[in-house]
Parts: sequence; C-alpha cells; structure tokens
Amino acid sequence: MKMSKLFVQTLRDFPQDAEAMSHKLLVRAGYIKKLTNGIYSYLPLMKRVISKIEQIAREELDKAGAQELSMPFVQPAELWQKSGRWQVYGKELLRMKDRHDVELCLGPTHEEVITSIVDGILNSYKQLPINLYQFQLKFRDEIRPRFGLLRGREFIMKDGYSFHTSQESLDEEYKNMWNAYKRIFDRCGLETKPVQSDSGAIGGKVSHEFMVLTETQTGEDDVFYCKNCDYSANSNHSTSILNEIETTTNFIEEKIVDTPNVKTIKDLAEFLNINENNILKSVFYIVDSKPVMVMIRGDKEVEETKLLNAVGGLEIRKATEDETSEYTGSKAGFLSFIGLEDKIKIIFDLSAKGMKNFVIGANEVDKHIVGYNFKSTPEFVDVSLVKAGELCPNCHKPLFITRGIEVGNIFQLGTKYSKPMNATYTDENGENKPFIMGCYGIGITRTAAAAIEKHHDDFGIIWPLAIAPYHCIVVPVNIQEEEQKKVAFEIYEKLQKEGVEVVIDDRDDRAGVKFKDADLIGFPYRITVGKTIKDGLVEFKTRQTGEMVTITPDEAVQKIAEEVKKLKVN
Ligand code: ATP
Ligand code: MG
Repeated sequence: MKMSKLFVQTLRDFPQDAEAMSHKLLVRAGYIKKLTNGIYSYLPLMKRVISKIEQIAREELDKAGAQELSMPFVQPAELWQKSGRWQVYGKELLRMKDRHDVELCLGPTHEEVITSIVDGILNSYKQLPINLYQFQLKFRDEIRPRFGLLRGREFIMKDGYSFHTSQESLDEEYKNMWNAYKRIFDRCGLETKPVQSDSGAIGGKVSHEFMVLTETQTGEDDVFYCKNCDYSANSNHSTSILNEIETTTNFIEEKIVDTPNVKTIKDLAEFLNINENNILKSVFYIVDSKPVMVMIRGDKEVEETKLLNAVGGLEIRKATEDETSEYTGSKAGFLSFIGLEDKIKIIFDLSAKGMKNFVIGANEVDKHIVGYNFKSTPEFVDVSLVKAGELCPNCHKPLFITRGIEVGNIFQLGTKYSKPMNATYTDENGENKPFIMGCYGIGITRTAAAAIEKHHDDFGIIWPLAIAPYHCIVVPVNIQEEEQKKVAFEIYEKLQKEGVEVVIDDRDDRAGVKFKDADLIGFPYRITVGKTIKDGLVEFKTRQTGEMVTITPDEAVQKIAEEVKKLKVN
C-alpha cells in the first residue's frame, strides 16, 4: 500500500471530546471517525485491525471445535417475549416497529436467536454438544457511551453459544472456551486475567470475565485479587472475610440521644467519639419501583449489583429525599429499620453481624439511638463492596484492588433461555429435555482499544505485531532522490513477496512528518532509506523498543519476515 493512496488522515491534535487514550489515538491516527454519539465508522486501518483480531479468534475457536455462522442484526420482539427479556431488558434495547406494526429490536446479544435456530434443527441428544459462534454488530443504547470503542453504542462482538445434554458436558466446554480465550488474547499480544463475575442481564450462575488490567480510569471495573492464591473477582461479585475489628462501644445502655446537625457517618462518629464501624447505617434504595432499606456497618458501602441479586431485582437507584420521607416519615441521616420491618423490605448486610452496643438512626430528625443491640438475630446477606485489605475468602490473606477492562466473558447459562423458549432435544429415553447452554463473548472492537490502552507512548500507538494494521512501513527520506526511491520500492516489493504487510511512504513530504505519522499510526517496524544507502545501508527501527540499527536492506527484510512467520500458528 502506498501512503499517498491510503485512506487516512492523521490529525495534529487530540480530539476535544475524548478522555481515554485509546479513543484519542484512534481518532488522531485516523482509525475511526465518529458518526454520532457512541457510533463510529471503522476506517481502513481500523478495519484491518478488526479483521486480524477476528481471524485470531476464528482460528482458535475453530481449533477448539466451534463452528462459525452469522445471525441477523435485527430481531423480532416475539423471540424476546418468549424468553421473557422483552419486558426486563432496560433501555439499552433499541426497540422499533416495521411498516406492518411488527415490533423489532436491534440485537444487543443473540441468545434468543441462536436458541430458536438450534431448536429448529437439532432434535436428538446424539447431535449434542455443539458450539456455534459469529462476529456481529451489536447495538446497546448504553446510558453512558464513552471512551470511544471501549464503550460504544454500536460495536462488534464475537458471540458464541454452546448446547449440551448435561452439566458435565457444559463444564467441559466452559474449560475448553476458557483455554481458547487465553490463547486468543495471548496471540493478540494482550495479557488477561480471568476473574469471577456477576452474570447481569445475560443470566446464569457461573461466569468469568477476561480482564486486561490497567490502573487508569478507562478500566471501568474494579477487580479484587489475592497475591497468595488465585482468587480474583469483579467487585460486583467479590466477597471477603472482614477484618476483626472492635464493634462494641461504651454505650451499654440503650437510649435516644440528640445529634443536632450531624449529617454524615463521619460527623456522627466524631460527635459521639466512636468509630464509624460502631454505627449501623441505613441506605435507602428503590428496586423495581419498590423501597428496599439496607442496614450496613458505617465504614462499608453497598455494592448495588450484589444487592440487586439479593432481592432478585432488575433496576436499582437510590431513593430521593421525598421518597425517603414518604416511606419512613424521617430523613436520610437519621434512618433505621426499627418499626419499618413490616412496611418495607429490609436487608441486613453481613457486616452488621456481631455488632454490639452500636449506634443507629432513631427515625427522628436530629436523633440517634446509642447502645443498641438486635432484639432477634436477623438474616444477614452479603451486599457490601469489598475493600482492599479485607481478607481473601479462600486463603484469608489481604485482598488487593486494581482496575480492569473486560475484553471477554464466558457464562454458564443452564436452561435460562431453553426453558421459557421451550427449546428441547430428546434424550436416550425419548424424553424431551431443555438444552443446557453456555455463552461466550469477546468485544472485538473493545479488544483493539484495550490493546492501545496497554501499548502506547507519547508518540502514538505501539501495536502488538499480530494485530497491527500493517507490519511495517518503508520510508524513503527524500522521494525526489532517485536512488532512495528505487531502493525503497525494491525493499517494499521484497517484503510483499515474503508475506509482510507493508506501507511505503511515497509522499513528497519532510522526513519529520513521515516519521511522526509512522509512530502515531504505530507500525511495529520502520525501514528508513536515506543517505546511507550510498553505503548499501538502511535504518531499521523497532517501534516497541525504539531501538534503531543500521543494516543492509536484505537483513531488514529478513528480520521482519522472520517475526511475521512466527505469527503463523498451526
Ligand atoms: P460491560 O459490563 O462492560 O457492559 P457486558 O457484561 O454487558 O459488558 P456482554 O454482554 O457479556 O458484556 O458482552 C460481551 C463482551 O462485549 C464484553 O466482554 C465486552 O468486551 C464487549 N462489550 C460489551 N458492551 C460493550 C460496549 N458497549 N462497547 C464495546 N464493547 C462492549
Ligand atoms: Mg453492558
């Protein structure tokens, strides 16, 4: 490819509306162009990166025994009504009607479609297990599309679904996909960590996310992990053993005390000269339009996904001031469950277990009860956010926290879709049984962005060779110099013969401009043909290390050809 013909425009500055480095670089280096909020065109360079990630995934999945197919992007509401998700999938599902008033949606995921396909084709246990996958556009009307390709509204996903007759068979395939995922991300040049996670709107019990760990804000998920054993989990799923702390106070007698103008837990602890963990605080939520009060130790926070799961809800938000007064007759800051047990749902977080002589709201403005003890032991549920330093649930060593970008995930769905959709096979005894299912996703476009988050410097992108749009760029310093031009084109042709994907920068531009673009776009190798060509030498630069050596054109070609050959896996 000649640079003069390549459809790319590099920009001098970063776009104003971008926060994430991958977003900034993808726009500035000419990979993507925004069409509207959360929706991007993938320009030729981007398209090549996407194709490479897809091809790596395809090779590994095929090797693992899965088969590729392609399902429609537009889906009928009817299927979603059958699975029961039409009502419960929130506003992320973009719904519409066709000219005949038939309700449709843009596919955010394809469990319903694949289940209906398999149900119509496979009847017997003899035909199972099977694993089918596709690369497809997804649309999710994300509430906060941000960070460019990391969280778009339209994006490309690899989604796969497996069908089984037993849990053992599903377990086996889950492991098989786990290994395939490891290989896929390794080959993409991305280190990932599989962590336990919540299954969210997809459903199911066992699930893992493959995380690219980053310390930046663009890693949207918090991951807790143990350095002693292999425990690691998304914050929406992690648990811990709480450190032993003194939860009793000197208030031995239960009584109501005045706590004027004390608004926060911190203020209250200072005012009463106690620790925050001596307070049982109330946090008031509305879950699926119903009030839920969480009683949790003062130094702990509620993890909303864990709470949702605990009450079997779908949508959660904090209650407003008005709602709080309406349901409790009191105000936030002074609330407690006392007297409300029969009126609203109360959840006691595990952190409250063992608290003695503690402080709690009196359900009266400017008043708290001190020296309180539970009159009967409530049922405790773990709905709190883990804190770094709490202990690993497996080995009781302190947990650490980091941030991660979820690039893929695997779920055991069980019969969540097959049962309501009545998708069955006949077993050995001629009985109809619902398929046992698994599902496996990879965010293809997110993976590309995550690779940039991990691999870049002040000058631009540093692509891992396997997913770079081109392996190499050949730069004649001065295209007007006949000798330079001739040798540059010879090198270009030799590289192509060796199967190297190469761009030649044939523009009549200053060398500085060409070098800047080469670094920004992120070509893994650069061969510069300049004055030293008189001595039969070129400059060879490795983008990742910045290392530059002066070698012959043939040596340069060989070096790259060898690295490219290593990418081919059998
Ligand atoms: P998240 O928690 O990040 O919203 P999810 O749990 O909704 O992800 P899935 O529905 O399982 O994710 O989708 C499979 C994969 O698709 C994810 O692992 C992620 O890599 C990718 N993905 C999900 N949502 C987006 C998005 N809005 N933009 C880009 N990629 C996405
Ligand atoms: Mg999501």
